[in-house]
Amino acid sequence: MAASASNSSSSEEEITLTVKWSGKEYTVRVCGDDSVAELKRRICELTNVLPKRQKLLYPKVGSKLADDSLLLSQLPLKSSLKMTMIGTVEDDIIVDQVDSPEIVDDFELGKDEVIDIKDKDVNKQKLRRRISIYKIELRNPCREGKKLLVLDIDYTLFDHRSPAENPLQLMRPFLHEFLTAAYAEYDIMIWSATSIRWVELKMGQLGVLSNPNYKITALLDHLAMITVQSDYRGTFDCKPLGLIWAQFPEFYSSRNTIMFDDLRRNFVMNPQNGLVIKPFRKAHANRDSDQELMKLTQYLLAIAELDDLSHLDHNNWELYSEDGPKRRRHA
Ligand SMILES: [Mg+2]
Repeated sequence: MAASASNSSSSEEEITLTVKWSGKEYTVRVCGDDSVAELKRRICELTNVLPKRQKLLYPKVGSKLADDSLLLSQLPLKSSLKMTMIGTVEDDIIVDQVDSPEIVDDFELGKDEVIDIKDKDVNKQKLRRRISIYKIELRNPCREGKKLLVLDIDYTLFDHRSPAENPLQLMRPFLHEFLTAAYAEYDIMIWSATSIRWVELKMGQLGVLSNPNYKITALLDHLAMITVQSDYRGTFDCKPLGLIWAQFPEFYSSRNTIMFDDLRRNFVMNPQNGLVIKPFRKAHANRDSDQELMKLTQYLLAIAELDDLSHLDHNNWELYSEDGPKRRRHA
């Protein structure tokens, strides 16, 4: 215990960096236990250059800054030296989403490992830092007595990889019906690992932001995510719901929040609240047969009757629908 405490105090030390980009200098504060990916996210907040568009140059580190998983404490960074960033703000965000690097396979983390990641002090601290930096903008007020549904976009609501003349061809079937039904019991937030501009554009194109039958409470993007480290899987990004709970504690908590995502690792900071949705891919072939959102509507409405969702095992959501909530409750 003592050894790990002293370790973490040195890696938690704050480093102030000067980053030069496009003729201007920016001050970026990071910690030793932040990864290069985290640093790029900080720079993105200041410059709007997406992390994947950034090339970072720094004296004597060679190509190490190209490795997003590397921790900054492993690099000889000094406040006296300046970092240079090369990269452009995306103009064509349509093109951007097509070539976005994405790991398609959803690797499974062991159960012990999940517990380990969410309970690690370093990750809790990252979350606290993110809470202090990222402010969720409400598009519509939180509603008293409603639960919270958080939705991923890519492969959850939309097949972002298939070509199409009209984005509506790539929309998951029953999306508007699903959101309309869910809205009766849940406030709805949409959280995508892309930029907020893309989230707004995509949701706008699908008519999600202007539908008269439901309202979207907020949109969140990649800047709200944190990078965590797994002993077996290296570093990866996840979506910590604690960021939402901290900003709206009178409305949302682990007891009334459920999140749909096709990638289980996005739930790693709150595994109990995540439901892994079957990915919607190959929209042209699957458009006529995909019924996931219909089925999930039944589940969402069934569990909405419960005061506390935190004891449910969302892995078994299909069984729950078939059982019916009443039988379950008497069991
Ligand atoms: Mg996804």
